[in-house]
Amino acid sequence: MDFQVQTVLSVSAVVGLLLAGLQLLAGWRLRQSCLFVWSLANLFLTTGCVFLAARIDIGLPASVLVGNGCILIGMGLIYSGIRTLDERTPRLAAVAVVTALGTGLLGLSLWSGNNLADRVTITSVLVGCWTATAGRALLQTPGGGPIISRVASALVLMVLAIGYTLRGLGVQFGIVPLPGDGPVEVLIAIVGLGLAICWTFGSLYMVLEKVASLDDLTGLLNRRSILQRGEELLRSARARRMPFSLLLADLDHFKSVNDRFGHDVGDLALKRFAAVVPQSIRSNDVAGRYGGEEFCILLPGADAKGAHAIAERLRLLVEAQLREVASHDIGVTLTVGAATYLPGSSGPDTIADLIIAADGALYSGKALGRNRTAVAQLPSGEVPSAPRETPGHGTIAAEPSR
Ligand code: GH3
Ligand code: MG
Ligand code: MG
Repeated sequence: MDFQVQTVLSVSAVVGLLLAGLQLLAGWRLRQSCLFVWSLANLFLTTGCVFLAARIDIGLPASVLVGNGCILIGMGLIYSGIRTLDERTPRLAAVAVVTALGTGLLGLSLWSGNNLADRVTITSVLVGCWTATAGRALLQTPGGGPIISRVASALVLMVLAIGYTLRGLGVQFGIVPLPGDGPVEVLIAIVGLGLAICWTFGSLYMVLEKVASLDDLTGLLNRRSILQRGEELLRSARARRMPFSLLLADLDHFKSVNDRFGHDVGDLALKRFAAVVPQSIRSNDVAGRYGGEEFCILLPGADAKGAHAIAERLRLLVEAQLREVASHDIGVTLTVGAATYLPGSSGPDTIADLIIAADGALYSGKALGRNRTAVAQLPSGEVPSAPRETPGHGTIAAEPSR
């Protein structure tokens, strides 16, 4: 069966609108603004394709500038949506600059001889750059969240990036035919539609994975995800014969914060704690909400001494930054239990074991007066070289809990 480019592009336009609608609906239901940004991106891309390919009768220069401008905005919005997904600021100024640059170059090409090959190269290379930037952003997973859907979506974007860049260069050197109505154009349009559908479903899957893996209140990983991440990181530490530590951190007398100042202030304190954690841990460490006012922090590569140092840094930051919340003098402190996996030792060597050991240390810390770090002693007798205790706020080495 023969298809004409116009037919495929008409179908693409309808599908593009449906995909944008799907993202809009999902964004509204899941309250995820990145889906609104991606929905807008799909609308711009669809409009761009319609202007370029359906040859809307507004004159060649206008349809070239509007069509390609819409495509460049759409691609920039895909990147901005990824930044929004990762709670980073969208790069709308960059979208405006690249679009202005692209349409400026296209205008120049129209004005200086109307060379179609130049126009295809300009748009293709800029679109290739946007998709490569977007794919790269997806591969940098913040906070150690789930990555499978991100890698799959990044793959789709990278295929697009390579395809567009090769097309742009190929057209310039006469290797790839210029856009027309031949079978190559039909194939490109069908592949483009397929990739747009894959990307849209990838975007929905990424958001669903994010929503399912994060704790609503604090934005940290939830219990299921932090345990799953712990299994992965411990497996990798074991394979590389590296130490691995786990902290269980529990806010002290938190019930009394709720009782004295109300649940809202308690919630704000939990959010403040979540904002303090990244200031004390390293970029590869991962934090999650284990339950209530108890948090689990994974420290790949950290031995008992390193874990102790990070726990103390966190404890001191909490002491300073959770003293006052919403103008209330809540004075919340933190007790931390730490446990370490050491390759070749007979100590804890599963996440479940590490949690039991850290929980035992935490319990000792609470019993000794709270606001301190307690490190589970390894059976071999190894303990961190830290002061044994400073009453009220210091360090202890807890006995092994198993
Ligand atoms: P301890 O020092 O022994 O840990 O005392 P605690 O009061 O912190 O511990 P307890 O287990 O007695 O109480 C935990 C409190 O944490 C009770 C619960 O209301 C509060 N909490 C748990 N989850 C939330 C939450 O999402 N929001 C608020 N505001 N409070 C919470
Ligand atoms: Mg507590
Ligand atoms: Mg607790």
